[in-house]
Amino acid sequence: MPAVRVPVGARVRSRTANRSGIVLRRHVTPAGDIIVTLLTPQGKLKLIARGGVRGPLSSVLSLFHHVLVQVYQTPGNDLATAKQASLEGALAGLAVPERYPYAHLLSELADLLFQEGEFSEVAFDLYAGGLRGVSRHEDPEWVCLVMSYKLLALAGFVPQTAACAVCAAPHPEHPDPNSGQLLCRPCAGLPAFGEDVLGFLRHFPRHSVRTLMEEPLGAAGRAELWRALERFVAVQVGRVQSWRVNLPQLAGA
Ligand SMILES: [Zn+2]
Repeated sequence: MPAVRVPVGARVRSRTANRSGIVLRRHVTPAGDIIVTLLTPQGKLKLIARGGVRGPLSSVLSLFHHVLVQVYQTPGNDLATAKQASLEGALAGLAVPERYPYAHLLSELADLLFQEGEFSEVAFDLYAGGLRGVSRHEDPEWVCLVMSYKLLALAGFVPQTAACAVCAAPHPEHPDPNSGQLLCRPCAGLPAFGEDVLGFLRHFPRHSVRTLMEEPLGAAGRAELWRALERFVAVQVGRVQSWRVNLPQLAGA
């Protein structure tokens, strides 16, 4: 029997896989397609549910839902298709107006920090733990701050605290409103950070989430930490839109 020659371009290969992850980002196109980005233990994954806004996938693929999705990927098509999806878990506490903005901020930051195809089970666990904390901890703002800084460190972005960002003099203690890094007294135009803020900035990469959670800062210290984080991320990584919307202390940032 003669072999059947199949032209390479005509071969249609596809693969279907089940992926479990949390919806970081959701966007509905004018055509009614839902485009979601999931953070999974295997990395970030962008999917399209065609016509999804009119079907059962619409409620399943909601922001912050932990979902199990049947994904269909055709080579050459960069966007995988969500064929089916089921809800694995939803955090009811996130719907509360005092908590929702922090979940939003954490999700936007995680989306910015981690790239598609980057395998990171730790990132997934940190982010999932952050959402759980924001949904039920008595101090969702502190959870969000701690987890944001920990996500930053995990992604390899750590503000320099050992030397002035301008002249490299040791023991800088002043904020740099431009870079979010630290400056020495002669280089600085702003008063020094308080000891609590300096302690946090120097130690957060090495301290555990538990340790950081046990020492919450007061309102003034938090405002300083948010400002430093916003500046640092904007300069080093990119802008997080929801900061401006959700954090009154950053309204002018
Ligand atoms: Zn200096």
